[in-house]
Amino acid sequence: MLRYCFISEWLDPSSGVLWKYQLFWYPETKEVEMVDIKNRRHFLKRTKYEELRSSLLYIGSMVTIFGRQLKLTEYGDDFTRNSIESQTERTLAMIKPDAYKHMGKIIDAICQSGFLISKLRVAKLSKEEAEAFYAVHRGKPFYERLTDFMSSGRICAMELVAPGAIRKWRELLGPTDSNQARAEAPSSIRAQFGTDKSYNACHGSDAPETAAEECAFFFGRDRYPGKCDVARNTTLCLVKPHVVADGGAGLVVDMIQDVFDITAAQLFTLDRNAAAEFYEVYKGVLNAGEFNAMVDHLTSGPVLALEVADRDGASSVEPFRQLSGPMDPELARVLRPDSLRARFGLNTIKNGVHCSDLEEDGVLEVNYFFTILPQS
Ligand code: GDP
Repeated sequence: MLRYCFISEWLDPSSGVLWKYQLFWYPETKEVEMVDIKNRRHFLKRTKYEELRSSLLYIGSMVTIFGRQLKLTEYGDDFTRNSIESQTERTLAMIKPDAYKHMGKIIDAICQSGFLISKLRVAKLSKEEAEAFYAVHRGKPFYERLTDFMSSGRICAMELVAPGAIRKWRELLGPTDSNQARAEAPSSIRAQFGTDKSYNACHGSDAPETAAEECAFFFGRDRYPGKCDVARNTTLCLVKPHVVADGGAGLVVDMIQDVFDITAAQLFTLDRNAAAEFYEVYKGVLNAGEFNAMVDHLTSGPVLALEVADRDGASSVEPFRQLSGPMDPELARVLRPDSLRARFGLNTIKNGVHCSDLEEDGVLEVNYFFTILPQS
């Protein structure tokens, strides 16, 4: 019987104690088992747990087992290391400023091609940061133009995970020159969204060493190149974990970009404290069961936070609430069939997206995600 083993950690929020477990996963029967390493005893006997997404089983990932968030820190045996490492190559993908307006469509193409997006953040690079990122091209005739271009607007950096991710993403990108891409690979990203050799929509790492360096450039500990300031009059959208896990985030972003600007974005994995703090205002409105169900869902996997801005600088809170639709997706499908919740919601808890409710909450909630929460 196939069995994967990981070493995982759980920080008990009430006592501050860090627990270490062996986590076993039996993919054929969708069962989990946990052994407390220190006390050498079963913490969880082998039990069916269909909610575990095997795509999230890689080192550094957070998985939720019966409401407990575990960080996978090491492989537990060689079999697991060999099988998982061959399935989880990483690469850096970047949407360049010329294609930022097509971010939703590009994220969707990435998800439809079988990549897992393990990290994502929107940034606006300074000229110096763009020069540092493209240091290998220093001295080449196109360097000035390239670094001017790369610091001219927002970009979206993503760490993609898949078997053979580096090559797979470069294939999806197509040739460097978008005109050549249109001739040779018409369905590629550069063919669809790029203009020429300078303005070619997206970047992809070209080898394992550069992939590691480039992922560290954007996602290394305490490094936030190009961090965007929180803008005025904006509102928060959270693309909820069930939509992200089902590969629907790109479609949500695309629907939003049809009408609004997205001025910041980041993928977060929330712990229970952060989720409960964020939902604090609902505590008085919902019963304890509903409140816990909302916190459970928000911590069940990665959530995509978006800062949504009106194109003319007016407040986006109410217009974005309209695009989100009524809280209950069943109602949304009747009253506002074109809304986000009508399209992506399953029930009142897994209702596709969160949007800020009150005018004054928009910027506060944006700040919570993009300033107060740990950014990496
Ligand atoms: P990539 O790996 O396909 O992105 O290509 P390179 O690493 O060779 O170049 C990095 C980026 O520099 C490209 O994506 C283009 O945006 C730009 N670039 C590369 N070669 C040229 C060129 O000959 N002329 C111009 N204008 N830009 C170039």
